[in-house]
Amino acid sequence: MQHFLLSAAARSISLKAVFKMGEDKAYETFCQLRWPETEGEAVCPKCGCVETYNITSRRRFKCVGCYHQFSVTSGTIFASRKLSFTDLLAAIVIFVNGAKGVSALQVSRDLDVQYKTAFVLSHKLREAMALEQMGEKLGGTVEVDGAYFGGYVKPANEKENRRDRRKLANQSGKRQSVVVIRERDGDSRTFVGKSEAAGVAHVRAHVAADAVLHADEAGHWDVLHGEYEAKRINHSESYSDGVACTNQAESFFSRLRRMEIGTHHHIAGPYLAAYASEASWREDNRRVTNGDQAAMVAGAALAAPQSRTWGGYWQRGA
Ligand SMILES: [Zn+2]
Repeated sequence: MQHFLLSAAARSISLKAVFKMGEDKAYETFCQLRWPETEGEAVCPKCGCVETYNITSRRRFKCVGCYHQFSVTSGTIFASRKLSFTDLLAAIVIFVNGAKGVSALQVSRDLDVQYKTAFVLSHKLREAMALEQMGEKLGGTVEVDGAYFGGYVKPANEKENRRDRRKLANQSGKRQSVVVIRERDGDSRTFVGKSEAAGVAHVRAHVAADAVLHADEAGHWDVLHGEYEAKRINHSESYSDGVACTNQAESFFSRLRRMEIGTHHHIAGPYLAAYASEASWREDNRRVTNGDQAAMVAGAALAAPQSRTWGGYWQRGA
């Protein structure tokens, strides 16, 4: 069978098409994504009024009811945007096209924009993806697993200077755990904490009581047996024994590792949760065409409130 990424359906939108459509058409696309229920007709974000004066020259609207002035990106993740609508749409296409993630450096080079602009925009797109990943509790067959990221301590060169890096005292304290909870052939959620054991609380909060859990032999999952029907696999013996299997959780981690090694080189630290939910979004939507993926990310960004993390970034004088 042909790989999905090579099929015509996977290529429903191209950068060529984005630049060919031009600024007016790109702007129209954003209006349709922001106000799908009125087919792109502006709705006042303050009072919900659908009657507006269109200040075409400035691409702004004025509400007939409350006189509030707004634009298609006001109050969304893309508020106070620096880029043209064409560039913004192109950035989204570049971003969803990168199966292993896309570095801010690449976005900056491809669009010929400042690195900082690309960095902030990439994180806003991750935020939109993270919002897309929130939803109802997971159910059916659910796999749970954890893995550690960051805090690498380089072993000393000379043998006599080496320390046991498994000991807490010899670790950097920067190591964090990502826990993934993944429905078999369904949706996934990710969480970041100090240890994998912290994932137990997330399972309770995000997995329906009648789900069947699959986990590895790690002792901290034992407590879940009282609350769920749980199946366990001992990875020191086999990866799939016909009873329990966490291969789909593992494949999430293989994508996150590929993003780390192949694209970002360093994903630990304060942004680990953002990269983890990006990988989770990419896993869950890997069979969606890139045109639909771009619409999902743009739609989520336009439906979301202004970013608390990234919205004021330019005002911090960094
Ligand atoms: Zn209004």
